[in-house]
Amino acid sequence: MANSNGPETENLNPFAIVQKQIDTAAAYLDLPAYAVDILKKPRRVLVVNFPVRMDDGSVRVFEGYRSQHNDAIGPTKGGIRFHPGVTLDEVKALSMWMTFKCGVAGLPYGGGKGGVVCDPRAMSKGELERLSRAFMEAIADIVGPEKDIPAPDVYTTPQIMGWMMDTYSKLNRRYTPGVITGKPPIIGGSKGRHEATAQGCVYTILSALRDIGRSPEGATAAIQGFGNAGRIAARLLSRVGCKIVAVSDSKGAIYQPEGLDLQSVERLKDASGILDYGRKYGIPPEQLLELDVDILVPAALENVITSANAHRIRARIVAEAANGPTTPEADRVLKANGVLVIPDILANAGGVTVSYFEWVQNLMNYYWSEEEVLDKLERNMNAAYASVRDMARLHDTDMRTAAYIISLQRIADAMKARGWF
Ligand code: NAD
Repeated sequence: MANSNGPETENLNPFAIVQKQIDTAAAYLDLPAYAVDILKKPRRVLVVNFPVRMDDGSVRVFEGYRSQHNDAIGPTKGGIRFHPGVTLDEVKALSMWMTFKCGVAGLPYGGGKGGVVCDPRAMSKGELERLSRAFMEAIADIVGPEKDIPAPDVYTTPQIMGWMMDTYSKLNRRYTPGVITGKPPIIGGSKGRHEATAQGCVYTILSALRDIGRSPEGATAAIQGFGNAGRIAARLLSRVGCKIVAVSDSKGAIYQPEGLDLQSVERLKDASGILDYGRKYGIPPEQLLELDVDILVPAALENVITSANAHRIRARIVAEAANGPTTPEADRVLKANGVLVIPDILANAGGVTVSYFEWVQNLMNYYWSEEEVLDKLERNMNAAYASVRDMARLHDTDMRTAAYIISLQRIADAMKARGWF
């Protein structure tokens, strides 16, 4: 979805989009132009090509990227994406969104991101392990607990984080759990990390529902993407009383106006696929975004709400569990239509927040209970939401611009304190 071939009037390149978002927010701040210039490009980008032996004995060369945007406040941090459509510009943009996300969440990190062009769904477990280890080896010089700390993203899992941590620890000749987060708990993963992105997103949705005077009880929700972020968001939303009426994954979408039987959908997802829920419930995937629901959660990839469909979005709240699902043109339309957009850098900040908790626990070698993690997460997310909402009200602007204003100011203050300008 991260391509540049959209409607002729709109540039869908995510790198161009994040630069535009920075400019929009910078207009509210009294920053020197060169401070903004520093933030409009990543500080370092590594491109690697590495061989992996496949099960049939052949060797394939894979291309991967790691982008480190800005480390004024702390080491860079951000996930690794395995996807056939990953591009360098996408990874650069994702690393920049991470910087601003950490800024909004008040974490002592800058932004990083990685990606490998591959289709893990078409690879065996052994091939995936060799690919994961080879990629970590290829980027090992520039990552580390005090340099840059990766995490899971699209089609990467706790098991992949475990393999990568093991490879780094062997290269480093010492056990180094703090090099990567989202690991299985037995090797230093944090309790609550697996659910953190969705849990954080649900906290922001609950705040937004309070703001518009709507109870979660009976509120309808449609969710695009049924992986770590989307699937767990569906589960947690239904737990607080919401009615999940539609979900989708890469194979298609299902819709049941009276509410899906989520347990069946989850069972099918792990077996034959969600489309086996029933032929009569299938809808064209793009239609899911346009349903008349209280809450729409894009939880898959970028550029799904664009100038081409924004005017047809009927949700009251759009909570961006995914990174970059809405283009700047679409933002304008949604704002004009009174749709409350909880921007990605706020809505999905729960993942990096608990990743931060995981890293802190790894450095201390002292581990917290799930209650402790969730309590800290809830307080952090609620505080971040309130500061963004208040900033939006102060400037009479949308929540995305408000979130960038807060973050830009914080990073600019750090760069100034370090004497970068
Ligand atoms: P995942 O690999 O666990 O799940 C991705 C899901 O998206 C899968 O269900 C897949 O079938 C679905 N999908 C792929 N293409 C689709 C399409 N065209 N239409 C509908 N569904 C499609 O990935 P994830 O970790 O859940 O990440 C999803 C989004 O959330 C990404 O934008 C990611 O950057 C963002 N995010 C994830 C985390 C995290 O901690 N995992 C944190 C912050 C943000």
